[in-house]
Amino acid sequence: MIRLKNVSKFYYSKGLITTGFVKVNLDFALGEFIAITGESGSGKSTLLNVIGGLDTYEEGEMYINNLETSHFVSKDWENYRREYIGNIYQNFNLINSYTVYQNIELVLTLNGVSKKERRKKVLELLKKVDLLKFRKTKVSKLSGGQKQRVAIARALAKDTPIILADEPTGNLDKKSALGIIKLLSEIAKEKLVIVVTHNYEQVEEYVTRKITMHDGKILEDKKIKDYEEVENPKKASLKNIRFIDKIQLGFRNTFNVLPKFVLLLLVYSFIVVSLMSEYSAFKKEEYEASKDGDNYIFSNTDDKRIIVKKKDKTSFSEEELSKLKNYEHTDYLIENDFLVDKYVNLVNDNNRFWVSGDASSLDLFKGSVDVGRNPNNSNEIVIKGMRDDYYLGTKYQELFDNTFYLSDDQGNYDKSFPIKIVGIKYIEDDSYQDYTLYLSKEILDKMLLEEHEINSDITIDFMAHYYKSTRYDTNFQLVGNDNVPRGEVYISDSLKYSCPNDYCLNASLNVNVKNIYFDTSKDLIISKMYTKDNIDKLLNIGDYSKDNFSNYDGALYMNREDYQELFSKGIYQISIFVDDYKNVSEVVSYLNKNNYKAISIRDTLVSSGILQIVKIIKTVITLLLIIVMFFITYFVIKIILKSRNIYFSIIRMLGGAKKTTRDLLIIELFFVSNIAYFIFAVATYLQRIKILNIGFIETVNRYFLFKDYTLLYVIIILMSYLISLRYARKLFKNSVMNTYREEL
Ligand code: ADP
Ligand code: MG
Repeated sequence: MIRLKNVSKFYYSKGLITTGFVKVNLDFALGEFIAITGESGSGKSTLLNVIGGLDTYEEGEMYINNLETSHFVSKDWENYRREYIGNIYQNFNLINSYTVYQNIELVLTLNGVSKKERRKKVLELLKKVDLLKFRKTKVSKLSGGQKQRVAIARALAKDTPIILADEPTGNLDKKSALGIIKLLSEIAKEKLVIVVTHNYEQVEEYVTRKITMHDGKILEDKKIKDYEEVENPKKASLKNIRFIDKIQLGFRNTFNVLPKFVLLLLVYSFIVVSLMSEYSAFKKEEYEASKDGDNYIFSNTDDKRIIVKKKDKTSFSEEELSKLKNYEHTDYLIENDFLVDKYVNLVNDNNRFWVSGDASSLDLFKGSVDVGRNPNNSNEIVIKGMRDDYYLGTKYQELFDNTFYLSDDQGNYDKSFPIKIVGIKYIEDDSYQDYTLYLSKEILDKMLLEEHEINSDITIDFMAHYYKSTRYDTNFQLVGNDNVPRGEVYISDSLKYSCPNDYCLNASLNVNVKNIYFDTSKDLIISKMYTKDNIDKLLNIGDYSKDNFSNYDGALYMNREDYQELFSKGIYQISIFVDDYKNVSEVVSYLNKNNYKAISIRDTLVSSGILQIVKIIKTVITLLLIIVMFFITYFVIKIILKSRNIYFSIIRMLGGAKKTTRDLLIIELFFVSNIAYFIFAVATYLQRIKILNIGFIETVNRYFLFKDYTLLYVIIILMSYLISLRYARKLFKNSVMNTYREEL
């Protein structure tokens, strides 16, 4: 069955060559029970390892069923070991953290036997070696004799034709030793059993042949008694480990050595924490940098703001507005949002006291005022500004005492709508900022009309004369005024030269308003002409108007409701403020899929080239850190896993493929890294519900989107996978025995 022809084995280590054995010629047949004896160092173990395919040989030829083996590659040896060899060792080589049952089962699992068959076979073997009642005991708790019986049961499990035992009784007392030898001689009736021993008397009675070695050579090869030859060498027909068994085994290995599990978990938690904090810092900086961009249209650059129009350019219906208001990510919604970006001027009655600033909606005012009180009605407003501002800081009583009016750029103001400043809120940081005026919906609506007027092309047609006023060429203004009756219009006396006989009264005047949103017209009757002297009396716009008549001269006064009909044509552009910055892109894409045209305020900002470069550099640094982390982790994990080399060697000795050990490692590290990630996920959740308070997790919560969590998960799993591959590749780069020895 096995034949060695001039086989030699040498060891090379640190430049020294040692002889294992030289030019050995031997023949082994099934049914033989052979004892190899000889003094220590004579080459017995080496010979056994070469026969068992655990070690390579350098010279000569070994035949297995007449097949040459000198050309064998590691895969061939793997198959040979799996199909032919069962090993028994002096130091048992059992897996101490497994139970008796699990130890025997392992060899069957590794060779693709189904669970049901495994169970049947293991129980059968346990009966044979008389250990049935210990099946649930961890092998570390057994006596030496019991351990060796487990090892024998394991060696028999695969039903291989050859059993190799290296000093199987070396660590046993006399009585246990005898039991083992009897068991082996029993087995030898249908197999080839080779036992290495330095205590020949012990086996003398049972063996069929005695081989004595000395100094790496065969000193004597003596037949002791006859044996019955076994005809058909039945080699075990075995498969690879099943996928589900691999997962189960990997899972068991993850937890069965607790200190190792804890250490690995610590390492992985360290990876997760450092990756997360690094990446979240990166996200935060990216976010901060994006704020530094510029924008010439919108002054309110709140990053949660999204500007929305209808795709078909029509106005928003009530239904649409309320739907958007109630959309899950909407914090609040500002109708006619461009007012929020407008610079607003307030002026007091004698036109001496001006207060100007960015307009904002009272809906956006959060918290409470620092001085004064919050507004109670639509005429009351709040101002936000710096504490060291002259007026806001010290003279705020003057602001509170005055009554203000909305004013246009020319200083025209409308006394019909008095405004009171009732509260002041201070800005905490000291960077210079304009005032912000928080205005009621009514004030904003009023501004909206004027805004529409400014942005419209207005044409008036009377007596076949056309006059046009545009944003860039203002020739006249339309003004709403309560003193003018509906359907009438008051024009300046200076326009009378357009009328026949300088007489315009009762003539009809058509106003057309056209802008990017709408186009509308209205017919009015000219019922009064105003002059410098009667303007205040007719329209009640203050004495001041007389002194500055030229400011008012170009205006056409009409009833406020007529004016509103011309300009109040609904809502064409709104802003949605999202509950969380992280949801902005989701909301934008939702809107763009649903009849709207949406853009986040961030995307209206233009950032400089320098920022882009900084971003690239930071990305590169983050990547480098991940690579450095990979190697640090690899070395730490390598140290931790070193204690596992025996385990993996045993797997290999039992016929497990190299690939199996690699997969088991991958599965084990996969479990550990997932647990570490899971712990982290729980921590972010606890932070969210405010049970935990850890700085970097706070940052993670604030800036991470789902895709960031996913990305980091993939990185961590990938790292763990690469580490497993790398470690497994190094693990069995050499022969099984080399890896095993490194450990001992
Ligand atoms: P035995 O089992 O009979 O005591 P071994 O087969 O273990 O003897 O050893 C045979 C010879 O090979 C000894 O000289 C020993 O020093 C040498 N040897 C065994 N293993 C190694 C090894 N891993 N590296 C170098 N030399 C070895
Ligand atoms: Mg030995």
